[in-house]
This record gives sequence, structure tokens and C-alpha cells, in this order.
Amino acid sequence: MAGLGMSDRTNVIAIDIGGGTTKLALVDRRGAIRNWQNFPTAASSAADFIGKVVAAARQLQAEAEEPIAGISAAVAGFVSAEGQLEYNSNLPWLEGTPISALLTERLALRVHVDADSNAACVAEYIFGEGQGQGQGTARFLCLTGGTGLGVGMMAEGKLLRIAHGCLGDAGHIIVSPNGPPCTCGGHGCAEALLSTASLAARYAQISQRPEDDFRALVEDSERGDSQARALVQEAGRWLGIAAASLANIFLPDRIVIAGGLSQAGDPFFASTQESFRAHCGHFPLARASLMRASTGEHATLLGAAACFFYPELL
Ligand SMILES: [Zn+2]
Repeated sequence: MAGLGMSDRTNVIAIDIGGGTTKLALVDRRGAIRNWQNFPTAASSAADFIGKVVAAARQLQAEAEEPIAGISAAVAGFVSAEGQLEYNSNLPWLEGTPISALLTERLALRVHVDADSNAACVAEYIFGEGQGQGQGTARFLCLTGGTGLGVGMMAEGKLLRIAHGCLGDAGHIIVSPNGPPCTCGGHGCAEALLSTASLAARYAQISQRPEDDFRALVEDSERGDSQARALVQEAGRWLGIAAASLANIFLPDRIVIAGGLSQAGDPFFASTQESFRAHCGHFPLARASLMRASTGEHATLLGAAACFFYPELL
């Protein structure tokens, strides 16, 4: 598998199929991203969407100056071992699509498909805080926030796949039973309160901005705007409760916040830390450190590549 005949300069075509945006790039074994491109995930049909992915991948194949070892896609939701999307409450029209088989057939390259929550966790484990200060972590939990909230975990050097190929739908851990309805059918899930889209929408509503804009919310909160700051601090409290609940169950030694949510700024993160410490049990709290991911908003894209290059972790 990976490793054989692959130099550091060998690329994979990495694909991050998110609830809002699909990103593609050439990524090498060291995590260098080249020829990045993106387009909205929304499509008229699954066939139309796969056609767009294939066209973009062919363009990357044509642009690549180094050999391409294969394609690796990370998709939000539950993914079967055969690379079929089983369930995603944000992308119901893509459910049942055999993504791996279709890409293999159309592009004639080796293909890996995994859940985006797993991919981001592997990315951060390999390229980010999983190896922080040269000291690896034995139990590593990664919460990735963007359009959704995904949770993945590495234990003793392996991805934990306990339900439907991943950690289950842990981003839907309930943090506020009387909270807003969620796309999953529940109420008050962490994802419903914390997705960057829902935060941007709430900020647009209270600040009467014409458009949803997560970056504007972050910038305004860092500048000290009281409405923006109150909103990100509230979100930080919810995230702290989610992280504490997960820490009580899984006893990680390191928890990282990855994806777009990792860019939410210092006021957000200070509130997350405070809430985490206030809600977590003494035993897990004494063992876990909570930190921001260092792979930034491209965690999932990097993770798709990392899943291909480091199959021993899967
Ligand atoms: Zn939910």
C-alpha cells in the first residue's frame, strides 16, 4: 500500500466534500497543498455532483507536476467500508451514492473514501497537535466544526471506528435539551448550536447584516463588538459542554478543536476553555488538555490525503 514507491513529492488528489463547499487539491505526504480549488456542494443530483468532482480531478491530474498515487475523499456523514455515503442529514440527496466506485471507474486511480470527522482527526494527529512537541498522544479526540460538527478519535495509534465506520454522530451530543431544532431531527445538539453557518446566521439576524458571514462575526468579536462577543462566548460555552461530555465518555489525553471553528478567535476559545473546566469531571479533566488545532480550516482536506498516505492509522 502507501509507502511503496512513493516519495515525499508524490501527490494524492484530496477532496473534502463538505455540507456547503467541496474543496479539491493536490496534497503531498508532508501535507503541502497545491492547486487548491472549490465549488458549492449543492447540485441538481448526485450524478451531476460526481461529474463536477471528476472534471475538477481531471484538471488537477493535468496540472500535476509530480506523480499522483490516487484519490482520497472525505465526506461529511457515515461512509460504508465500500466508500458509499450512508447518511448525512445535511446532504440527503447524496445518500446511497457509491462515491468510491464511481470515482474509481471514471478516473482509473486507486480511491479511498472516509468520513470527514475521521479525516480531520488523522490530519491533526499527523500534521498538527497529535505529535505536539514531539510527544505523541495515546487518546486523541478531534472536534471539527464547519457546516457540521464532526468528532473523530485516535486511540493507541488507530482511528476508533465504533459505529458506521466512525465515532458515531458525536457532533450531535445534546448540550441544551430545550435548544433549537437540528437537521438530525433532535433538539439542542452541539452541531445545531455551533455550526459556523448557524452562528453566522444568528449574527446576521441580531446585527441586521444583509449576509451570513462567519468571518465578520469573528472579526467583530475580536474588535470588541459587544453583540458579536456575546454570541461567540455563548458558542464557546456550548462547545465546552460538548467537549466535557465527550471527555467524560472517552477520557482523551488531548482534545483539539479543528476546522473553521478553530478560527473563531481568542474570546471564543477562552470561553470554551472556561466552560470545559467548569463542566468536565475531575478524573478526565486531570488528564485532558484542550487546544486549538494547528491544521486550520484545511484540516479535512489534509486529512483526506493523510488517510491515503498513512493507511496503518485507519
Ligand atoms: Zn443533531
